[in-house]
Amino acid sequence: MSSSEPSIFTRIINREIPADIVFESDRVIAFKDISPKAPVHLLVVPKTEAYANVAQLAAGDPELLAEVIAVAQGLADQHTDSEFRLIFNSGAAAGQTVFHVHAHVLGGGLSEGSLA
Ligand code: 5GP
Repeated sequence: MSSSEPSIFTRIINREIPADIVFESDRVIAFKDISPKAPVHLLVVPKTEAYANVAQLAAGDPELLAEVIAVAQGLADQHTDSEFRLIFNSGAAAGQTVFHVHAHVLGGGLSEGSLA
């Protein structure tokens, strides 16, 4: 995808494609993963697509990364037993398919095989 095309997550943020949105603030959105790998599988996504991965986000806007993590905890409190696995795939070889930084929040009965 060229950088001039909006990411799939930007299209969700802009309501161009549907998603089951569970949280939204000025800078962050969260919705259910379309292909869940655990009983609870949410994606927490900064609204900006300026950062492709978590290291870029940490370097460029650490407060926004902190908000992503706080939102993840709040969603785990609401949707499961407050305990969760937080995954940021970074790079295609690590399984990243959407290059608009996002956190996977997994919970609700995890097994070792349920990595996103
Ligand atoms: P990645 O592999 O980049 O870490 O994670 C991308 C995630 O986005 C995948 O778990 C995939 O299931 C999810 N995903 C891809 N397209 C869509 C979509 O259109 N809607 C939703 N809700 N999730 C999506």
